[in-house]
Amino acid sequence: MSIIKDVIGKVIQRDPYEPEFHQAVKEVMESLEPTVKKHPELVKAKIYERIVEPDRTIIFRVPWVDDKGEVQVNRGFRIQFNNAIGPYKGGIRFHPSVNLSILKFLGFEQILKNSLTTLPMGGAKGGSDFDPKGKSDNEVMRFCHAFTRELFRHIGPETDVPAGDIGVGGREIGYMFGYYKKIVNEHTGVLTGKGIEFGGSLIRPEATGYGAVYFAAEMLATRGMDFKNKIVAVSGSGNVAQFAVEKVNELGGKVIMLCDSNATVVDEEGICGEKAEFVKELKNVRRGRIKEYSDQYCGAVCYLGNSVWDVIREQGIKVDIALPCATQNEIDGPSAEALVKNGCFCVAEGSNMPSTPEAVKIFQDNNILFGPGKAANAGGVSVSGLEMSQNSLKLSWSREEVDKMLLNIMKNIHKATLDAAETYGRKGDYVAGANIAGFLKVAKAMLAYGIV
Ligand code: NAP
Repeated sequence: MSIIKDVIGKVIQRDPYEPEFHQAVKEVMESLEPTVKKHPELVKAKIYERIVEPDRTIIFRVPWVDDKGEVQVNRGFRIQFNNAIGPYKGGIRFHPSVNLSILKFLGFEQILKNSLTTLPMGGAKGGSDFDPKGKSDNEVMRFCHAFTRELFRHIGPETDVPAGDIGVGGREIGYMFGYYKKIVNEHTGVLTGKGIEFGGSLIRPEATGYGAVYFAAEMLATRGMDFKNKIVAVSGSGNVAQFAVEKVNELGGKVIMLCDSNATVVDEEGICGEKAEFVKELKNVRRGRIKEYSDQYCGAVCYLGNSVWDVIREQGIKVDIALPCATQNEIDGPSAEALVKNGCFCVAEGSNMPSTPEAVKIFQDNNILFGPGKAANAGGVSVSGLEMSQNSLKLSWSREEVDKMLLNIMKNIHKATLDAAETYGRKGDYVAGANIAGFLKVAKAMLAYGIV
C-alpha cells in the first residue's frame, strides 16, 4: 500500500472529528505521491508522517467582561505546526465557527504556503470562537487583551509571529500588540499587520488581495490573456476581497459581485471608484452589512441569504474570472459546474480552501486555470515576512518598493509552482506544483535536523 494512503488513514484514525483537517491533508498528501518514488530518504525518515502532526497545540480559556458587566468565556487556540524553515507564522481568526479542525487545516496549509514565499517562515494558525460581530469597540478591546494575556507567553519575534485573518484586522492587531508590549515591556515585531505608526508595513493590508490578482494575471498570461475587460466575481467583502477589487479595477477588469455571510450584491455597472470606497467604509468603519450597497446604489441587485456562487448558479450570471475571498468550502461541486457553464476560465483562491475537492476536480477536468489558495493567497504572508524584515532592520520601505517585492514574489511562486508540477510529471497542475514545491523545502530542512 502507498505510504500516502497510510498517512491519510492514520490522521483520520487519530483525530476522527476533524473533517476540514482531513480534507487538507488528503488534498496535499495525494498530490505528493510523485515525490515518494523520487525521495526514498524522506520516506525512510518518515517525513510524511511527521509533517501532519503539529509541533504543539495550545488551547486556553479566555475570560472577559462584556459591556453589561457580565463575564464571558471563550476558547483560544494556537497551533504551532512546523518551524523547520523559520519562526511559526500564521494568522489569528475570530469567528464562532473556529475549532481545532479548522485551525489545524489552516496551520497545515500555512506550512507549505510560507515555504512557497521563499521567506524563512514556519507554519501556524490560531484564533478563538469569539464573534466580533455586534460587539462594541470596548468589548473587542477587552477580548483582545484577555486573549493576549495567555497567548503572549507562547509567541515572540523569533518564536511565533501571528497576524490577522477572518475577524482580525488592524483594530484587533493594535489591541493585541499594545497588550503584548505592555506586559513583556518590549517593542518588537511580534505581530504583523500592525499600524503603520508602530512597525507595520505599507501594502500589508492590500497584500493578500493584490497578490491573488497578481497570481491570476500570471496564470492568464500563460494563455496570452490579461484582466482587461474581463468580468470578475469576488466573494466576501472583507480585507482580501476589498483589495482584490481594487487591483482588478486597476488592471482594467470589471468586478460585478461581492457578498458577506448574509447577502450577495450584483452590480453589472462594476464595483469601482466611489462604490469600491463605499464598501471599504461600510465594512471597516461602520461595520455594516453588504445589503446596504444595494440601498445606496439603485443599479445594484441584492440576493439575501445567497452566496456569490449560489447567485451565479441560480441566475446564470456570466463571469470570466472567479476570485473566492470569503471562507473555506464556499464553492461546492454544483457551484463549480455552474461557473464552468457560465464561461468562467480562471479561478484564483484568495481565501483558504474555498473550493471543495469536487469543485477542484471540476475545474481541473475542464481545463480552467485554477490557482490554489496556498499559492494564490500567499501575498499576505509574504508582506508579513517583509514586515518582519523591516522590524529587524528598524527601517521601513516605501509603498512602491514593497509592492514591487510582492509582485516579484507572486511571479516567483507562480514559476516555482509550474516548474515543480512539470518536474514531477504533472505539467500545468497548480495544485500538485504548489504542494510539491512547498513540501520539498520543508522536508529537506526536517531531514537535516535528524529526529527532532
Ligand atoms: P475578513 O476581513 O474577516 O472578511 C471575511 C469576509 O468573508 C467577510 O465579508 C465575511 O462576511 C465573509 N464571509 C465569512 N464567512 C462567510 C460565509 N460563510 N459565507 C459568505 N461570506 C462569508 O477576512 P479576510 O482577512 O478577508 O479573510 C478571507 C479569507 O482569506 C479567509 O479564508 C482567510 O483565511 C483568507 N486569507 C486571509 C489573509 C489575510 O491577509 N487577511 C491571508 C491569506 C488568506 P461577514 O462579515 O458577514 O462575516
